[in-house]
Amino acid sequence: MKAATFQGPLKVVVQDVPDPKIQEPNDVILKVTTAGICGSDVHAYDGRMNIPATGWSMGHEYIGEVVETGSAITNFKPGDRAVGSFVASCGECYFCKTGWPSQCVKQQFFGFIMLGGAQAEYLRVPNAHYTLEKVPDALSDEKAIFTGDIFSTGYFCADRGEIKPGDVVAVVGSGPVGLFAQMSALMFEPKAVLAIDQMPERLEMSKRIGAVPVDMSQVDPVAVVKEHSEGRGADVVLEAVGIAPSLESCFRYVRAAGTISAVGMYTEPEFAFPMFQSFLRDISFKIGVCPVKRYMGKLLGEIAAGKVDPSMIITHTMPLDDAARGYDIFHHRKENCIKVVLKPHG
Ligand SMILES: [Zn+2]
Ligand SMILES: [Zn+2]
Repeated sequence: MKAATFQGPLKVVVQDVPDPKIQEPNDVILKVTTAGICGSDVHAYDGRMNIPATGWSMGHEYIGEVVETGSAITNFKPGDRAVGSFVASCGECYFCKTGWPSQCVKQQFFGFIMLGGAQAEYLRVPNAHYTLEKVPDALSDEKAIFTGDIFSTGYFCADRGEIKPGDVVAVVGSGPVGLFAQMSALMFEPKAVLAIDQMPERLEMSKRIGAVPVDMSQVDPVAVVKEHSEGRGADVVLEAVGIAPSLESCFRYVRAAGTISAVGMYTEPEFAFPMFQSFLRDISFKIGVCPVKRYMGKLLGEIAAGKVDPSMIITHTMPLDDAARGYDIFHHRKENCIKVVLKPHG
């Protein structure tokens, strides 16, 4: 089968790789009908993660059709449509059972060498009975796919911020995860969601979602946040970028006794945590990887009910064969690109 493979920094090649096969009783083979290119794929693509091995298949955002099931699978059958978490979790361990599948003791990541990547014609999903969620036929791939990664991550970020009705929420970043953090924050009935970024096309998307765009290249976001909050600062700040300057900026936006919730994938050297300032101001700071399985079913329900439409952030749809171009325009933000999805089967 064909798959997008990593061949060194900034080099993705679609090439033939072995077909995935059932290896364990809880495996499912999925025919991938749509796969996303995610910001965390780009951490490998641009060399920040420094993975010396090459030839491995990439991708971890996927939706597809079940074509084969292992002997222990009872909740899926061939022909079912399913979306899956970017990490396969067992469903049985302490962490899975307590709502933290992101800390599963047997977790396995798609792409990144560990498991085959999802930007491929087919995908082996371990512990599929738990890792996958059934998708109703009425929901398009485009609406459902992001519950397996960036929508759930944005929702987790907002959920951990403990937003209360009437709150002022500042979201740092209007990339794909930031946009979903904004969309999710709006589900908690805040007074306003302020979207802080500097890319015009991203801010335009924030506006379409219902957030207030704040162009940090034109205005001082601290002043805007204060204008909306009687001078106090934001009740909740959500961070969805994952670099030191954006994490540090959260401490300037948050009000005393407010909450910062961060989900940006932070791979830089540690930054100096403002411990004393946080102590004096009673700041709550939370950071982490989304336990996707906790949210997938709930969010699929909200989408099916017509409350949100995650497909609106897709700017580019292309065949799997064009994956190299997809990575290039997503990484370099060409063609006003916000989100690319690939179609392995046309
Ligand atoms: Zn991802
Ligand atoms: Zn587990």
